[in-house]
Amino acid sequence: MNNFNTIFALSPHTDDVELGAGGTIAKWIEEGKEVFYVAFSIAEKSIPEGLPKNILEKECKQATKALGISENNLFIYKFPVRDFPKFRQEILEILIDLRDKLQPALVLLPSLKDIHQDHHTIAEEGIRAFKYTSILSYELPWNLFNFEPSLFTTLQKRYIDKKVEAIKCYQSQKHRNYASEEFFYGLARIRGVQINAQYAEAFEVIRWIIM
Ligand SMILES: [Zn+2]
Repeated sequence: MNNFNTIFALSPHTDDVELGAGGTIAKWIEEGKEVFYVAFSIAEKSIPEGLPKNILEKECKQATKALGISENNLFIYKFPVRDFPKFRQEILEILIDLRDKLQPALVLLPSLKDIHQDHHTIAEEGIRAFKYTSILSYELPWNLFNFEPSLFTTLQKRYIDKKVEAIKCYQSQKHRNYASEEFFYGLARIRGVQINAQYAEAFEVIRWIIM
């Protein structure tokens, strides 16, 4: 059942995947799975004053490297932040193209309940493109009024350490309320306690195919 060797992690903006599934990805890479990271925006319009507009691209390269993702497996597209709903079809075509080339067995994407319009667009178009694939939604609590954790990955502390290390690469985002070690260790402990483990990340099962 854990036979997913090729995994796509869809990140609306650079950093969403690290925030939602960084520990799990670090674990899977250690297990030898092939993880592709696909980001759709470097959010040039949202960069704090005084920083280069492409800083998130640089930070994303560092963060994905910290998780162990190969640079060859990193795809960064530059759709304008907050405008993804206008680019649905282009986004869908990119996803279908990548799907046909790389044929992942498992796809991670945001929750359909995520209230950010860009996250929601990636969730919807991702489900459309990968309807014959196992799909899990990752947890970004500040954008979710509801989240139903239905799948957990148990994680040793070193995987949360890697997740935190990756998140710290995003120096341009350190003003965000959630950008703190305390928050991510705390959330991983909550999810761990729910399954009687030390640490965990939780996901919603959108589709689960057992071969
Ligand atoms: Zn985002």
